[in-house]
Amino acid sequence: MRSDSRVMKSRSMKSKFPPSRKMREKGGAPSRLGSLFFLFLLLFCGVGAAQKVAITFDDLPLNGDLPAGVTRAEITRDTLAVLKKRHVPAAYGFVNARKLEGNPDAAEALKLWAAAEPVGNHTYAHMDLNENPAEAFEREIEQNEPALELVAAKDANWHWLRYPFLREGDTVEKRRAVRAYLQTHQYRVAQVTLDWEDYLWKSAYARCEGKKDAASIARLRSSYLDIASRYLDLGREMAKLVYGHDINHVLLLHLGAFSSTILPDALDLLEKKGFTLVTLEEAESDPVYEGDPDAGSKYGGTLLEEWMDMRKIAYPPVAKKHYKELAEICK
Ligand SMILES: [Zn+2]
Repeated sequence: MRSDSRVMKSRSMKSKFPPSRKMREKGGAPSRLGSLFFLFLLLFCGVGAAQKVAITFDDLPLNGDLPAGVTRAEITRDTLAVLKKRHVPAAYGFVNARKLEGNPDAAEALKLWAAAEPVGNHTYAHMDLNENPAEAFEREIEQNEPALELVAAKDANWHWLRYPFLREGDTVEKRRAVRAYLQTHQYRVAQVTLDWEDYLWKSAYARCEGKKDAASIARLRSSYLDIASRYLDLGREMAKLVYGHDINHVLLLHLGAFSSTILPDALDLLEKKGFTLVTLEEAESDPVYEGDPDAGSKYGGTLLEEWMDMRKIAYPPVAKKHYKELAEICK
C-alpha cells in the first residue's frame, strides 16, 4: 500500500486515434493507396499496436478490511476465479508474511493464491525503506523468504521484490545498497508504472458491503473506474514524456475486499484502452526496465514518477482522487 499522494489538477482525457472506417464503408478490396495509407498509420501512429501490461497484486494475503462474515480465503478464491475466467496471464502476488502469524485464514488464502499464481517478496512486515536503514530492510526481505519458499510452486521464481510504498530509499546511498543486495541475491525489482492507489477503495467497499449500501457501492464503482481510466492515460502520457515512446507497463493493484467485484470492469477498461495482458517477465523484458533513476526520493513513486522527479519534468495535470470521501463513506 502507498501512503503518499500527489496533488494533481484535473486533466482533459486523451481521445484515442479513431480507427479508419473508410475501407469498411466502401466494401470490396482496398485500393493500393488505401493500403499504403493504412501501413503508414500502423507504422507511425501506433494504430493496432496493442500495448502490453502486466497485472500485479500487493499486500497478500490481504490489503484493507474484511467485510463482516467474509474470509480472506473467500476473497482470494473469488479473485482467482476472475483471473482464470478472463485468461489473465500469471499475475504476481507480493506477500507480507507477518500477516500469516497466528492467522489460519490468511495462511489458507495465501496457499490458494500460490497454487494458482506466482508470489513475490514485499518484505516481511511491509517495511518503509525511507524510514529504516538498508540493513534492516535487507533482513526484512530475508525474513519473508521461508514463507515464499514454502508456498511457491516448485519451478516458480519468487525472486522479485516489490518495494513497499514504492519507496526505494530517501538517499541514493541507501538505494544503491539495497539494489546491490538484490543483485547479489538474484532478485529483480518488480517495478510499477501504472497505479491509481486502488487500495483506497478496499476498506471503503468492505464498510459499504457490510451495510449492504447499494447506492454507495455504485458510487465507489464509478469513482474507481473514472480514476483508473484517467491514471491509465496519465501513465501512458508520462511514459512518452520520460522515454519519448510507449513502453510495456506494470500495473499495481492490491488484493482485498473489492478485488473480485471490480476486477471484471477494470479488465474491460484495460481492453477498451487497447492494452494486452502479459506476465511480469514479459512486461519487464522491455529495455526501459534496465534503467535506474539512481537518486534518493523522499516520496517514492512509480518508475515513471521517479524519472519525472529526477529529470524535473513537469507533471501533466490529472484528476484529484476523492481521499476524504473514500475515508468517510459508509462510516
Ligand atoms: Zn504494499
